[in-house]
Amino acid sequence: MQHRREAAGFLALGVAVALGISACGVSQQQEVQLGQQESAQIQQQLPLVQDAVINQYVSALGNQIASKTSRADLQWQFYVVNTDVVNAFALPGGIVYVNRGVLERADRMDELAGVMAHEIEHVVRRHSVKQMEQMQGANVGVALACSLTNVCNNQAAAAAINVGGTAIFAKFSRTDEVQADEGGFHNVINAGINPEGMLTFFQKLLAEEQQSGSSGAASSWFSDHPGTQDRIQDIQNMLSQVPASQLQSLTKDTQAFQTMKRRVMSLPPAPKQAASGQ
Ligand SMILES: [Zn+2]
Repeated sequence: MQHRREAAGFLALGVAVALGISACGVSQQQEVQLGQQESAQIQQQLPLVQDAVINQYVSALGNQIASKTSRADLQWQFYVVNTDVVNAFALPGGIVYVNRGVLERADRMDELAGVMAHEIEHVVRRHSVKQMEQMQGANVGVALACSLTNVCNNQAAAAAINVGGTAIFAKFSRTDEVQADEGGFHNVINAGINPEGMLTFFQKLLAEEQQSGSSGAASSWFSDHPGTQDRIQDIQNMLSQVPASQLQSLTKDTQAFQTMKRRVMSLPPAPKQAASGQ
């Protein structure tokens, strides 16, 4: 297994070098390519919700938020993964996946918007790209080449997918998470949406986590998004600084959200083996 992994890594590194990618500097074009290739792999591995009403709603909400950020120029794409596991993740270049478990727990539009704005901010700040740029040597080659080529699509190179996957889904630091919350908070306000949903959704997840423990569907969120309790405090602080009159003018919920939500609740059960954002 070990020598096979090295062989795949060596091959992948060669491809990355041939593509002219270095560890210190991923251009926006490369970032977009990376996300698209990784997304193609994910879509072979994860079941997606194929419901036009749900997908169009999530895309519209995501674009409403993303179009007000400094990276409005990206071709943002939003998908719903058909799993009860509560999680969401973003790929480089503006591809965001929201798990069905998030839609199931969001009771209002502003709660879903808070989660999406958080993921959008990870892309705005290029958190995964920065992590890759900081990685050393072969790992960068494997991660980038896996994503930019078909090298990982065969069984022999399966080990390299793990390496690539680790790079793309590397856990963000607490600093990254705090930044994504703070940026996400402003992203929702800029989109005309009430940021209170960010707070109430996190509180809801925390309550669920405390009730069901690490075996619950919400635990995935906490392992990927460290320090949730501190972050709730941060969001409360930010909220206290928004004038009440401004908060009142921001949208908390819409008919379109509730229509979408009813569709979600009427879907057949999600497949059990579906993975989290790992
Ligand atoms: Zn995050």
